[in-house]
Amino acid sequence: MAKNNKNCSFCGRPESQVEFFIMGQDGAHICNECAIQAAEIVKENSTKKSNLPNLQKEQVPKPIEIKEYLDQYVIGQEEAKKYLSVAVYNHYKRLMQENSNDDVEIEKSNIIMVGYTGTGKTLLAKTIAKKLHVPFTIVDATVLTEAGYVGEDIESILTRLLQVADYDVKAAERGIVFIDEIDKIARKSDNPSITRDVSGEGVQQGLLKLLEGSVVNVPPQGGRKHPDQKMIAVNTQNILFICGGAFDGIEKKIAARLNTRVVGYGASVGIEHIDKLNLLQYIAPQDLKSFGLIPEIIGRLPILTYLEPLDRKALRKILTEPKNSITKQYRKLFKMDGVELVFSDEVLEYIVDKSIEFKLGARGLRSITETIMMDEMFEMPSKNEKKLTILLPYAKSKIEKANINRLKIA
Ligand code: ADP
Repeated sequence: MAKNNKNCSFCGRPESQVEFFIMGQDGAHICNECAIQAAEIVKENSTKKSNLPNLQKEQVPKPIEIKEYLDQYVIGQEEAKKYLSVAVYNHYKRLMQENSNDDVEIEKSNIIMVGYTGTGKTLLAKTIAKKLHVPFTIVDATVLTEAGYVGEDIESILTRLLQVADYDVKAAERGIVFIDEIDKIARKSDNPSITRDVSGEGVQQGLLKLLEGSVVNVPPQGGRKHPDQKMIAVNTQNILFICGGAFDGIEKKIAARLNTRVVGYGASVGIEHIDKLNLLQYIAPQDLKSFGLIPEIIGRLPILTYLEPLDRKALRKILTEPKNSITKQYRKLFKMDGVELVFSDEVLEYIVDKSIEFKLGARGLRSITETIMMDEMFEMPSKNEKKLTILLPYAKSKIEKANINRLKIA
């Protein structure tokens, strides 16, 4: 065979030294590694013209429509859903003003959501992006903390967005970025460690530039900037930033403010009417400031909303009601093996109980269900059964044998 005579027309290596060749015309070949490199060069140098048409009004779903869509995936969180739907609708209306010629400029409405971990902040942001068909990425603010002094990492937020937009800069410039754990870059004013303090504020300053809307040079492959790397200029003006954080302990700041207001002139909520079990609902921008976000950042996140803690009833609904609820996902998995899967009601209640007992919230529902189902998932495909009903004694036996610490990590 001519196999041994072939060499990569780019790196010159013979076929025996590479995984495979792709053939071209007139005896030309490219090896798998050169093909990957070539693709990267194309990406880096791409001045790809966006094929996105200008947004038309009819394409932007109305707030009620957005909320109805969110309802299919996210349980409860009525206020957050409403705020998000309106903010997102206005955001995309803002994009359409590119075509208008009056002097009124609608300002950007980035969003900040405060709520305990596992209450649906990420899920809300992700679901909105799906509805709008825009590029979406999640970044963790804790990663930014580590490189805080240099600040280069901040741009890498946009690298991720560019990547999911397949380097279509225009599409990325209309995307949504969810910045998780924004509370972790708060100034630690109560913390004796001064170094951490500076780092947090440094990151906030860096982030400010992105939130405000500016042209940022983004390294296409992420990582640190180096002189030879070609940068891609991304304008963040129309990128919607949604920030989320648990802001552990912010209730104390809220309570303190409410108490002083009740005594002072601005008392609008009587202290006796305050729902002390859910203080987050009274959150105001000044609480974020007391927590350690700098005022400039707060100013750039004008939409502030909160998420409710998930009670038993909500957890029970999360198990079965959302369009891609955990139980629906398991049923689908088993159906692919021709098995009808049924969870008894008692088992569903038990999963919720355990998630509450181990303080795992909504995230625990998955890990607990997974633990109950693992052996069946292992054995069932080799059995010849058509129906499987999971009953309480079986579920209990699996959880009692399980290592609780493993459940907590999941
Ligand atoms: P957060 O970002 O607030 O920490 P997530 O959105 O990541 O929480 O939630 C973790 C998981 O818990 C989600 O993937 C989802 O399966 C489930 N979940 C949490 N809250 C809800 C909710 N309100 N409705 C439906 N599922 C939820």
